[in-house]
Amino acid sequence: MEKTEKIWLDGELVPWDEANVHVLTHTLHYGLGVFEGIRCYKAKNNKPAVFRLNEHVDRLFQSAVVLGIDIPFSKKEIFSAILLVIKKNRLKECYIRPIVFLGHNQMGLNPSGVDVRVAIAAWPWGTYLGDEGINSGIRVRISSFTRHHVNITMTRAKACGHYVNSILAKTEAIRDGYDEAILLDQQGYVSEGSGENIFLFSKNRLRTPALSCSNLEGITRDSVFDIAKHLKIEIEEGHITRDELYIADEVFLTGTAAEITPVREIDNRAIGNGKKGKTTARIQKVFFEIVRGNHTKFNRWLSKV
Ligand code: PMP
Repeated sequence: MEKTEKIWLDGELVPWDEANVHVLTHTLHYGLGVFEGIRCYKAKNNKPAVFRLNEHVDRLFQSAVVLGIDIPFSKKEIFSAILLVIKKNRLKECYIRPIVFLGHNQMGLNPSGVDVRVAIAAWPWGTYLGDEGINSGIRVRISSFTRHHVNITMTRAKACGHYVNSILAKTEAIRDGYDEAILLDQQGYVSEGSGENIFLFSKNRLRTPALSCSNLEGITRDSVFDIAKHLKIEIEEGHITRDELYIADEVFLTGTAAEITPVREIDNRAIGNGKKGKTTARIQKVFFEIVRGNHTKFNRWLSKV
């Protein structure tokens, strides 16, 4: 991981190596915290621009509402702090990680009275599932782990503790020689990847699991809806079964880290011709044009640093 100079912590910029917390930090013990993953791209004239920053800040605050955490800063303050971190670290392209966590002034499960703290770090981060993955597709397995139930941890929040489930699925997949895991929901329908939403293309229609399938409401997922509309590709949400993925013409994953990553194989079955599909390629192309500021229709999604 490439260190940068400064991290924003509770309203101040501090040196990277000094952005530390106490071992009795509440979130470290119980997992109650929320975070975001955001990307900034080198856009027009090599100037950095953050992709869908408003939506990420909104989701951070919504996650906090779901978990009953009061963020001690306004949306406007967090928005500006994110831009400040990029600017102060002189970053052109980076991944940004805001996290809201509970401090160490009190132990025990009851979080009332525990300090709410906020950190924002940013660092250069290349493709999450590899350049080869973006170009030629990845191999995934259906996880033996089930995605969270909507009434166990509530899946609208991007919560720290949720990622224990994602890590179990991800490590199982990697250990078995795959690149990523796809988790099913409690009814057995397709939910999402360990850190990505999923789409299939079949019979000239793009389909993705409905938001009732225990998946996170991804901002890249939402962007794909608008890109599909722009490309006049029919798109629908619903319930998808594991075997529908196996026989789909194309499958791809979406996420801030994963961007648009084609899936070429699931459980040792080739998807389509086992390469990046044509529709996936069209959507991916428009996505990268947008984030690099080369698509005027979608410039509203970019925030200049
Ligand atoms: N699902 C999960 C579990 C995730 O962690 C992510 C990444 N934030 C996504 C989906 C994709 O969301 P987004 O497109 O907003 O990054």
